[in-house]
Amino acid sequence: MKALIIGCGIGGPTTAMALREAGIDAKIFEAYPDTAESVGSFLNVASNGLDALRVLGAHRRVLSAGIPTPRMVMWSGTGKRLGEVANGLALDDGTVSHTILRADLYRIVRDEALSRGIKISYGKRLVSFDDTGDHVTARFEDGTEETGDILIAADGVHSRTRAQLDPSAPKARYSGLYSFGGLVHDPKFTGEPGVYNMVFGKRAFFGYTVAASGETWWFANLPRELGDVPADWKPVLVAAFRDDANFSAEVIERSEVALAVPIHDLPPLPTWHKGRVVLTGDAAHATSPSAGQGASMAVEDAVVLARCLREARDHRAAFARFENERRGRVEKVVAYSRTISNNKAAGPVARVFRDLMMPIFLKKLASQESLSWMYRHQVSL
Ligand SMILES: Cc1cc2nc3c(=O)[nH]c(=O)nc-3n(C[C@H](O)[C@H](O)[C@H](O)COP(=O)(O)OP(=O)(O)OC[C@H]3O[C@@H](n4cnc5c(N)ncnc54)[C@H](O)[C@@H]3O)c2cc1C
Repeated sequence: MKALIIGCGIGGPTTAMALREAGIDAKIFEAYPDTAESVGSFLNVASNGLDALRVLGAHRRVLSAGIPTPRMVMWSGTGKRLGEVANGLALDDGTVSHTILRADLYRIVRDEALSRGIKISYGKRLVSFDDTGDHVTARFEDGTEETGDILIAADGVHSRTRAQLDPSAPKARYSGLYSFGGLVHDPKFTGEPGVYNMVFGKRAFFGYTVAASGETWWFANLPRELGDVPADWKPVLVAAFRDDANFSAEVIERSEVALAVPIHDLPPLPTWHKGRVVLTGDAAHATSPSAGQGASMAVEDAVVLARCLREARDHRAAFARFENERRGRVEKVVAYSRTISNNKAAGPVARVFRDLMMPIFLKKLASQESLSWMYRHQVSL
């Protein structure tokens, strides 16, 4: 069987590696000339995602490039410590969630795939596919095409494959928040190692952690109308954090602000597959980043899809089993993450209520056992 994988983000290379383990050949097609990601953008790879990478033998380089971040401390914009929760649950061998630069994570999974002989073609933007029943042909913007037995969409939240698979499928929905990130090296901006500080500010949300290098890695979520984009974001962000009792405004002032990303998630789709085509990762179930799970879900999908293709009698049965195994879990994650995002975009009244209730809520979560369904989930090939 020959699989065509669309997208070389996180799901694309990990799916190709998982398929290789299942004895299936795969080729990856990426729209951009390279997968270089902007500096200043980073993400949390949760313990369950690291475990899924371990199944593929691809976790070690992620662990060494990342910062162990086992704890989260929540603050109000007035400087009140609201409480603390674990950032995921440690695996049996003690591995905890790690924070890693997005560019490093993309590079690591891509290089792992290349080192296993997987072919990646760049500058190949899928525009359409043609499922003849016997084969599927992907057509690219540069006029070329490629034929395979199955087509796996790992082309992200605004998936072109999804739009063609089911033109009536719901579109990605905007969360009301723009996300920003940056890095700054200044000993003034210190923090406890291994801790993500999360600040529910007066007008916007600010998170930061301090890397072993001494750099402060920060991100901000700003409630904003979609498309309301100023010529320069920095003064807008500094003004949003001006009245908060922490160094957020100063950190932003001193940093180069990475690209603004409007945060979307995806309502449940009627189906994830049709004929020889299946959706995975963000293309199937994009979650807002608040739960720090999107990348981990994409890697879990990769492992489960490969197992289903190895075990099932044909691709149709495999895709149905894959959707059946994954849908309940990922939809629960999307819903959980959406609740957190709504808290970040709270209005003035909701904000007062949130700051009062948060310590009680956090106490309930303190052991994190209530979230073991998310962090202790294990996938196998
Ligand atoms: C601001 C922000 C912060 C986040 N923080 C976290 C976090 O802390 N933890 C976490 O786990 N997740 C986080 N996420 C989510 C995470 O980035 C995604 O869930 C994850 O990248 C999904 O992987 P994917 O492979 O499905 O899609 P992507 O990683 O988005 O990859 C899709 C790839 O497909 C390519 N592509 C798109 N269209 C085409 C086409 N037509 N033809 C060919 N190629 C195409 C794209 O160029 C891209 O390389 C965050 C997301 C955002 C926006």
